[in-house]
Amino acid sequence: MLTRRIFIALASATLAAPSFAQEKLPVVASFSIIGDFVKEVGGDRLAVTTLVGPDGDAHVYQPTPADGRKIAQAKVIFVNGLGFEGWLERLIAAAKSKGTIVTLGKGVAARPGEEGTDPHAWQDVANAKLYVGEIRDALSAADPAGADAYKANAAAYLAKLDALDAEIVKALEAIPKDRRRVVSTHDAFGYFSARYGVAFIAPQGVSTEAEASARDIARIIEAVKAQKVSAVFLENISDPRLAKRIAAETGARVGGTLFSDALSEPKEGGANYIDMMRHNVRELAKALAP
Ligand SMILES: [Zn+2]
Repeated sequence: MLTRRIFIALASATLAAPSFAQEKLPVVASFSIIGDFVKEVGGDRLAVTTLVGPDGDAHVYQPTPADGRKIAQAKVIFVNGLGFEGWLERLIAAAKSKGTIVTLGKGVAARPGEEGTDPHAWQDVANAKLYVGEIRDALSAADPAGADAYKANAAAYLAKLDALDAEIVKALEAIPKDRRRVVSTHDAFGYFSARYGVAFIAPQGVSTEAEASARDIARIIEAVKAQKVSAVFLENISDPRLAKRIAAETGARVGGTLFSDALSEPKEGGANYIDMMRHNVRELAKALAP
């Protein structure tokens, strides 16, 4: 009996702690897109927890007690900032977190929105690259032993983002300028618009917190009729009814679903940032082709 018990103890000790295994750095990302960047840079050195998952709306997220515990344990907490995660400051304070908070949006040239700063900086790949550089630097500071790995991972990923950016420019350049005009549910594509030359109008502002007013909807319907908008898009984080109603009232085509503020579930084709951007460009190109 004793021998058996020792054997089990030895066996489980071996399983639980392989001799050079290293404890993974506990890291929290506020939402799915940042979570993807952090995983790309951190590789297997990190245990990444993402608070707002695929298809989730981080503007209006309701944190859970489990989120508070994850924040309390994290060594580094990556957030977007720019007014995106309004619920996060209180959560971090309540969790009495000792982790380093890294606000990635700080480094971008922020666009003003109608009711505050536009937080959707990731919709321009150049900003995604800034985020990745900041993630690399923050992880290297928190875990100096991993600095070489973070540097190599970030360099490989940044090269992929360069290729992605060029691919998007090329795909959208092929569409005649007067067709590059669409409607989305909320104003999430200002950075995309500025970088890639597709004009977006939206009944809801830069946050989904406030519902679109009757006047906003009427304004969009007028604009759609007047400006020859090519298509109305649904979003993975928003109720589809508003966009469908605008399409029905104007005769505009429903162009498909864009991934605005979150990755999608894998079967929808946007389970990581690069796939998400490719999906959006494909949907736009399809709807806007003459
Ligand atoms: Zn948004």
